[in-house]
Amino acid sequence: MIVFNLICPDEHKFEGWFASSDVFERQLVDGLVTCPMCGDANIRKALAAPRLNLGGEATRHAGESVPAPEGDQAYLGSQHMLLTQFKRFILANTENVGAEFAERARRMHYGEEDHRNIRGKVSRDEAAALNEEGIASFSLPPELMLDESVQ
Ligand SMILES: [Zn+2]
Repeated sequence: MIVFNLICPDEHKFEGWFASSDVFERQLVDGLVTCPMCGDANIRKALAAPRLNLGGEATRHAGESVPAPEGDQAYLGSQHMLLTQFKRFILANTENVGAEFAERARRMHYGEEDHRNIRGKVSRDEAAALNEEGIASFSLPPELMLDESVQ
């Protein structure tokens, strides 16, 4: 996920969250990015506070993501908030099946069990095996450990 500071022609400033820079560009072109205040789709990225007077700093390339103008600290804060929201979403929308993950995922894939969203733990080999069988699942890095109950 990536966050952009956006601005509409009426100078309304807001944040937009996107899966990637490409997704943002595509949604922008399709007019899907609109101002939450006035609904205008003529959105552009707000520029970070100009730093031209500092001298010696490398100029930004066009299309480079621009960090929040409040500074890196605020930017990291937003990232952390997103992560927390993401965890909450997963916890609220998946059933914890713990070590039975691979077995349950397989049963669902082969129609022996109703489809639903589950979370749990699999070994690297199990995950690879599921992948080879065409069973959709994705792994989260350890720092994203969702809760203590995932064994
Ligand atoms: Zn606006």
